[in-house]
Amino acid sequence: MQTIRTVAELRQAVIQTRRPNKRGGFAPTMGYLHEGHRALIEASRAQCDVNVVSIFVNPIQFGPNEDLGTYPRDFLRDEQLCQDTGVGILFAPGTTEIYPAGFETFVEPGEIAKPLCGAFRPGHFGGVATVVCKLFNMVQPDVAFFGQKDFQQCAVVRRMTVDLDLPIKIITIPTVREADGLALSSRNRYLSQQERQRALAVSRGLFAAAEKFQAGERDVGRLLAIAKQHLTAVDRLEYLDLVDCGDLKPADSPLRSTALLCVAAYVGSTRLIDNIIMPLPT
Ligand code: AMP
Repeated sequence: MQTIRTVAELRQAVIQTRRPNKRGGFAPTMGYLHEGHRALIEASRAQCDVNVVSIFVNPIQFGPNEDLGTYPRDFLRDEQLCQDTGVGILFAPGTTEIYPAGFETFVEPGEIAKPLCGAFRPGHFGGVATVVCKLFNMVQPDVAFFGQKDFQQCAVVRRMTVDLDLPIKIITIPTVREADGLALSSRNRYLSQQERQRALAVSRGLFAAAEKFQAGERDVGRLLAIAKQHLTAVDRLEYLDLVDCGDLKPADSPLRSTALLCVAAYVGSTRLIDNIIMPLPT
């Protein structure tokens, strides 16, 4: 595995590894890798010949009062995980490599970035779209892998690739969870033992609603109410919504197409997000 720090070296490595009929796979991350990231890398390995992972804590997707300064990092452990998982190129640039002095051009996503997390984290998805667009241009993958846990991020990136004519296939990988249901996240490391226990309310709420859905419940209000009963254990519920999987607008009641039940909540000072898809037979 090559560990690369600069865009110039990355371009050289990409040129050297590119062959006709060889697929390039890419998984962008912010590091502090866990089994969710590993699932992305393994999918990339299974589907592609050359596999690139990036580790970059992207400052422009954090709000002024968010956790940029404390975001967990452990580069050596991450590098080992990438090595062990068969990554070909690990790209880990510094901030000025991605945003050198004079940088002033941004990607601005449209409506898809407005609801849910977009409503609570102004500028977040603009920061995500900008860095992902830049990374796509640097890595030039054929396929890029993203996690369903960040469903709206997947939707924003998918929309961007279509709107900006980027010839990259976006694949969404199902959320990897702990045995007790908690969605893996680098931010779980912020949770105390007691908070970790209360954080289970998030996935439990989603699963309880999904169970009712499986049993035939299609009323949006009733499904939300079931999830909400569990979410009383969190410190602050930012949103709990049932939305259309395509445009992320509020789902019609009774549900008529595949919907996404999604939640963002604080446990202590840690912001957690999670979601579950409720598929309807077409
Ligand atoms: P992050 O490092 O948190 O920015 O995440 C990098 C990528 O890993 C994103 O595409 C995330 O959606 C994905 N990811 C994060 N957590 C999980 C998880 N529990 N299961 C699957 N993918 C995940």
